[in-house]
Amino acid sequence: MNNIPFNKPYLTGKEAHYIYQAVYSGKISGNGIYTKKCHEFFNDKYGFEQCLLTTSCTDALEMAAILLDIKEGDEVIMPSYTFVSTANAFVLRGAKIIFCDSRIDHPGMDESQIEALITLKTKAIVVVHYDGVACDMDLVMDIANRHNLYVVEDAAQAIDSYYKGRPLGGIGHLAAFSFHETKNIISGEGGMLVVNAPEFAKRAEIIWEKGTNRSAFFRGEVDKYSWVDVGSSFLPSELISAFLYAQLENLDDIQQKRKQHWTQYESELKGGGLTGIQLPQLPPFASNNAHMFYLLCESSQFREGLIDHLKTSGVYAVFHYLSLHKSPFYLNKHDGRELPETDRYSENLVRLPLYYQLEANQITKITQLIIQFCNSYHN
Ligand SMILES: *Cc1c(COP(=O)(O)O)cnc(C)c1O
Repeated sequence: MNNIPFNKPYLTGKEAHYIYQAVYSGKISGNGIYTKKCHEFFNDKYGFEQCLLTTSCTDALEMAAILLDIKEGDEVIMPSYTFVSTANAFVLRGAKIIFCDSRIDHPGMDESQIEALITLKTKAIVVVHYDGVACDMDLVMDIANRHNLYVVEDAAQAIDSYYKGRPLGGIGHLAAFSFHETKNIISGEGGMLVVNAPEFAKRAEIIWEKGTNRSAFFRGEVDKYSWVDVGSSFLPSELISAFLYAQLENLDDIQQKRKQHWTQYESELKGGGLTGIQLPQLPPFASNNAHMFYLLCESSQFREGLIDHLKTSGVYAVFHYLSLHKSPFYLNKHDGRELPETDRYSENLVRLPLYYQLEANQITKITQLIIQFCNSYHN
């Protein structure tokens, strides 16, 4: 039987066609027809008021840090169990990162610990909807409002996912999505900033367009465009938006298929009565967008054994984040607090292959290998 990789990018079939159209439309730089089509899609489907496609989620996070006017000495609270870009975007502006531990039932940030981390220097809270599973946003927004803080949602993994029925990415002041090829909806590299707080609307567009009021100029609102603020080249070329649009047209199909795979994993593993591993748990307020299927192992040795066992049969499962508070770059900048849950996910979490093209018999093969491993490990 063929190897089963951890991820395989899925093509809907229209990507090359739309790229061809973009190429021959005569405008292939940014903010053209396909960029606008993507913005409209998100506006229609999720009610996002202002969307700005970016070349990555990393860029969208960097835009957020500029918009919030993050300066040397400001403190930003975020989970340690996340991708480097969540933190790096704010560190680039001079922020000190105050890392928060993860929940006991989920790798997302433990909302009950946030308030104790707030000081007079705190400027923002960055939540990460790990695995597309919502943080408790009512709680986070309430804390932020009481302390006059901004909330940024790192919604990189959270497309088409909901908190109490509200789309993720539409709740914080700002939100960042990713369309990297490892996410549900892809454009190779790619991302999007969503601006929910109207006070940022004007400046977001300027920062996006290299610090110029070019967008206002093209709408005829000003008679020449000039350098009005800081900014950078955050907008993607039409080639990327064209690719993305082909994916968005098939979002429902992609999501339906991924959820089907996810459910199959869950039911086969639940049926296996496993010891040594724990299946993912969703807080009651969160939806499941089938971004990943992960297992929590009882120890890192168990995880290593399981990954090796799967690899022997050509199945590629992988671990995930190393705690940022223990990273070579941040270790000596961290305030020294222990973050035991973060470390537990860092050591014990393993992600299984999950992509559109997976077949039911491949998932069964994987779940049987896992059940086999669990049974032999404890005997
Ligand atoms: C993937 C990811 C990012 C980075 O996304 P890019 O589009 O690759 O820049 C940031 N944060 C989280 C939580 C991610 O999963």
